[in-house]
Amino acid sequence: MLVSDTGEGLQAGFDSRPRLGADVARRLARVRDRIAEAALRTGRDPQDVTLVAVSKLQPLDRVLAAYGAGQRVFAESQAQELVPKVAAAPAEITWHFVGRLQRNKVRQVVGSVALIHSVDRVPLAEAIARHARRLHREQRVLVQVNVGADPAKAGCSVAGAPALVDHLADLDGVMVVGLMTMPPLDQDPGPLFARLCALRDALRDDHPDIRELSMGMSADFEVAIAHGATLVRIGEAVFGPRPDG
Ligand SMILES: *Cc1c(COP(=O)(O)O)cnc(C)c1O
Repeated sequence: MLVSDTGEGLQAGFDSRPRLGADVARRLARVRDRIAEAALRTGRDPQDVTLVAVSKLQPLDRVLAAYGAGQRVFAESQAQELVPKVAAAPAEITWHFVGRLQRNKVRQVVGSVALIHSVDRVPLAEAIARHARRLHREQRVLVQVNVGADPAKAGCSVAGAPALVDHLADLDGVMVVGLMTMPPLDQDPGPLFARLCALRDALRDDHPDIRELSMGMSADFEVAIAHGATLVRIGEAVFGPRPDG
């Protein structure tokens, strides 16, 4: 667990580890401050915003450095990366899954993560529910909505979200607790975040469990917090540039 999964630490000598740890700790502290400031600016309680540290493509050293600095919620975006990281990292970590999920990978994810942010279609939801029932669990999920109608992005349409949420609500084995979005890079994210927030508020009348809004990444998390984000998914601002980004 203390051995670098890349071998970098060993090659560079022991000096690199404390420096790396201090680096991640400093970035993490800065992100936490920015989250708190963004929340307070819009009259929100900073405690209502959870930092999800997205560790995809980051070596285990950096996960351990963030963990050492008090971070407890992490996320991965690929099943094949999640499985070994969950096995190697401290058991106290709460893992989320934020990436595109194929039905044949559901088995590797359900049961290992507290929350799947990326449910955008009925067959995927049913596969998750089936596997969760087999494990005698209820898997918490978010519905990913493509608010920017970006053909390159996953997510159901805004118009299709209520029917998907209704379907999920009737399914044993899953519990839908909110919505997630990833705006297109070339659009002003503010109006899109506002749209997701309005959709969440509308769905809440029929589905009181729908509370969470997963929106905002390194480049736009303050804007997302101003529009009601309860989960911000932040990678590079916490860990530094992704090695193979
Ligand atoms: C990579 C990723 C993030 C984090 O992106 P950063 O720009 O590094 O903050 C957030 N959400 C999803 C779904 C991702 O794939």
